[in-house]
Amino acid sequence: MRCDRVWFNAKAATFAPHRQGLGVIEDALIASREGTIVFAGAKRRAPRDLRAADAIDCEGRWITPGLIDCHTHLVHAGNRANEFQMRLAGASYEGIAKKGGGIVSTMNATRAATEAELVSTALPRLDALLKEGVTTIEIKSGYGLSLEHERKQLRAARRLSRRRKVTVSTTFLGAHALPPEFASRADDYIREVCEVMIPEIAKEKLASAVDVFCEGIGFSPEHTRRVFEAAAANGLRTKIHAEQLSNLHGAALAARFNALSADHLEHVDEYGISAMAKAGTVAVLLPGAFYFTRETHQPPIQLLRQHGVPMALATDCNPGTSPLTSLLLTMNMAATLFRMTIEECLVGVTRVAAQALGMQKRIGTLEAGKSCDLAIWDIDTPADLVYWMGSNPLHARVWRGQ
Ligand SMILES: [Zn+2]
Repeated sequence: MRCDRVWFNAKAATFAPHRQGLGVIEDALIASREGTIVFAGAKRRAPRDLRAADAIDCEGRWITPGLIDCHTHLVHAGNRANEFQMRLAGASYEGIAKKGGGIVSTMNATRAATEAELVSTALPRLDALLKEGVTTIEIKSGYGLSLEHERKQLRAARRLSRRRKVTVSTTFLGAHALPPEFASRADDYIREVCEVMIPEIAKEKLASAVDVFCEGIGFSPEHTRRVFEAAAANGLRTKIHAEQLSNLHGAALAARFNALSADHLEHVDEYGISAMAKAGTVAVLLPGAFYFTRETHQPPIQLLRQHGVPMALATDCNPGTSPLTSLLLTMNMAATLFRMTIEECLVGVTRVAAQALGMQKRIGTLEAGKSCDLAIWDIDTPADLVYWMGSNPLHARVWRGQ
């Protein structure tokens, strides 16, 4: 068997579903050809005729799949440090939103920026994630809130994948907030999202999924349903921001549309959870937003476990409620704040995160046939990746075999 490159003398946490726990392989060997893994297993089981142009001695380090950040708002202009300051002085998230702050202030900055400016302001945030071994990132629109500016945001997100070695999955979040020109006309704005924006975004293939912020300060379940119907009619998968501040039964609604994921979920109930379990909808938990907004209502982790709902973790990197560019810290927060186990945290940023993007056939585990996206770590055990706060043990990052 001929291949381009092998990594040997390593321990691997494969997260392969047919292996137990983390799917650990001592004395592992991983071989890649044309960017795809052709062998991942114990060295002694490798094909005898394996020939590689390049062989890399990992000197006993750990290899995991490249990390996946499956929920971000990475592309935007400006930041909201001023609102952080206001919150410290006592204002609430809802209060700031009602005063024209919040999403709308980022919308103004994003509308004023060019596509090139959006790319250059997002790059440092992207680089921070890549430095910790991220090889795939989801990026949502939702700060343009008009066809022209949503399209610009999605194009900027796509351009990031040409500037760095990273896979970018884009999601259209036109139903993120009501833009000022549609004030008190949410019905009309949703009609614009469904009849103008979604068909155009789908036609240009600028996004693979459609997301909605279903919340008292966002859009109603009825609006959400209309957006999901338009997504389905245009061949796009769905995702939802649901049950973050209250329970509007958005998760159950999303499950009816076989949504890829329902995200946040602090206030989800058993009805929503069982609907997600039946539909195979992933729960994406965002401990950075929980931490930063000082939420106290925890997502019902035990109920999610009982119903077998797969749980992913993501940074939710955004300027208002989660200015977080570290998936390692996200895992630590999930363990500390939500009491998620080491294994749940690690599969949450690899195998399950891939599922939340509908990309589980290509990424998320170390198995033959998957993209050769690897993170190589200077650690003693995989638990180190969840345990430490603020240190970065990444030794090397491999994207599509390079
Ligand atoms: Zn979000």
